[in-house]
Amino acid sequence: MTDPYHTRSENSNSSRKAYRECEVKWWAVNVEHTHTITPTDDMLAGSLVHCMALEPDKLDEFREAHPEIWTKGSKNVKPRLREKFAAAERTAEAMLANPMLADLLDGVREIVYTGTIAGVPWRGKLDCISVERQRIVDLKKVPSVDGEVWVPNRQLPWVVRRGEYLPVVEARGIHYQLGLYRELVEQRRIEIRELVCIAYTLQDPPAFRVYIVNNEAKLAQAMEDLTQTGIEMERLKAHGGMGLLACGSCEVCRSMGIVETEEI
Ligand SMILES: [Zn+2]
Repeated sequence: MTDPYHTRSENSNSSRKAYRECEVKWWAVNVEHTHTITPTDDMLAGSLVHCMALEPDKLDEFREAHPEIWTKGSKNVKPRLREKFAAAERTAEAMLANPMLADLLDGVREIVYTGTIAGVPWRGKLDCISVERQRIVDLKKVPSVDGEVWVPNRQLPWVVRRGEYLPVVEARGIHYQLGLYRELVEQRRIEIRELVCIAYTLQDPPAFRVYIVNNEAKLAQAMEDLTQTGIEMERLKAHGGMGLLACGSCEVCRSMGIVETEEI
């Protein structure tokens, strides 16, 4: 199933991340669309939680489009959801049954906003926005809600010295994502006062953590970095991808047989 959203030409936070990880991958996946990343079970489980929690009317369609989430079954045994996907459905049900989380998810779901930042086109698909409550909410699957990951120096602009342990959602760039969404929404003269990330696990029972993303200094640094990266990406597109840097280890580099040399 090709999602036309992912083949649009504007930049998105995920294309920015792909570009930062590996320019060759970004070019193949996000610019020329010659390579599609095969979703892992983990990615699919996240999509299933999203679907069930945000767009339950599309659940049947999702289940049909992804036969791999079911066990094989036989003449006498009906196919069942594989464990990871049963966990995903359990998590979505728990999320919706929790009054605080259900309240946070009150709003318009899966809506696309586009805009221009420093002359560069950007887009964002918001999990949930409430215009009345001036709030944007994003869902993120994490391995555990109190786990922190090591972020090396400068991988995020505010991480200095050798590096820092940060919550998973921060390490993965939640300030970039929600900063971008707020900017795109505010360009439509809709004021946003609250940026929220609901982190969830697929544990049984699942854990949740609500992050209020309100560090304006980090949001400003993320937006500054995103703006500059957008300009770089547009420049590379204008030059037909001349001089792209390969990482030599991602799915695309491996499939292209790219081998990097390093002096140590
Ligand atoms: Zn690569």
